[in-house]
Amino acid sequence: KANRKFHPNDTAVDISGVKIGGGNFQVIAGPCSIETKEQMTEVAQQVKESGAGFLRGGAFKPRTSPYAFQGLHDEGLKLLLEAKKATGLPVVTEIMDASHLHLFEDVDLIQVGTRNMQNFELLKELGKIDKPVLLKRGMACTIDEWLMSAEYIMAGGNENVILCERGIRTYETAVRNTLDLSAIPMIKKKSHLPVIVDPSHATGIRFMVEPMALAAIAAGADGLMVEVHNNPAKALCDGPQSLTPKGFDQMMKKVTKTRDFF
Ligand code: PEP
Ligand code: MN
Repeated sequence: KANRKFHPNDTAVDISGVKIGGGNFQVIAGPCSIETKEQMTEVAQQVKESGAGFLRGGAFKPRTSPYAFQGLHDEGLKLLLEAKKATGLPVVTEIMDASHLHLFEDVDLIQVGTRNMQNFELLKELGKIDKPVLLKRGMACTIDEWLMSAEYIMAGGNENVILCERGIRTYETAVRNTLDLSAIPMIKKKSHLPVIVDPSHATGIRFMVEPMALAAIAAGADGLMVEVHNNPAKALCDGPQSLTPKGFDQMMKKVTKTRDFF
């Protein structure tokens, strides 16, 4: 179902009336984690003013250490939905367990993170609903494995899948991950599904987010997912890679120019 062979035209996925793919470019922005009401309303308002089409924020956080901040769970989702109401922006947030699905009813786009790309039972459950799914690439997974995970969701009847390249593990240690820009044209060749790029987790370093975002546009990405925090130094997760609202605004001006160029 994900194969280009049987779907020659690019697919546009409709998320609560906003499309990604098939010529529709969207930027998803917001903090790594939902922390406070003030943080969410402030960041949501600012990224909206700068042109973001979606608000992101994690409530269930897949942290390497069990002692690190794990997210605010259902309380966090409440704050995310309040920011959605205040700004009108559709929202994106990560699911880690299918038993939480009932909490995601008002979430517009459900994210499957890199660590769950091959959690096949979770993918099967997401195949049974009709809500769009943002499927991030497993950090050590090939393009074909990634497409097979999309297939797991689609095989169940949910064909609203958007792919997200977020960097892969390589021998390089100067960056958090290595952004595989070549995945974009390859996905476009093999599949009709939209593919967006997350330059924040791909690099892990603030100054690299903007150049990699622009490179992703040049490579043909259908959108971007960027972490933005109103006070990155105090962020509970991923502060070093988070843009300030001002930095995001500056990036968005260049995003527009780069899109016009291509
Ligand atoms: C995220 O986007 O919040 C996240 C945890 O990303 P990834 O799964 O790509 O690490
Ligand atoms: Mn993060």
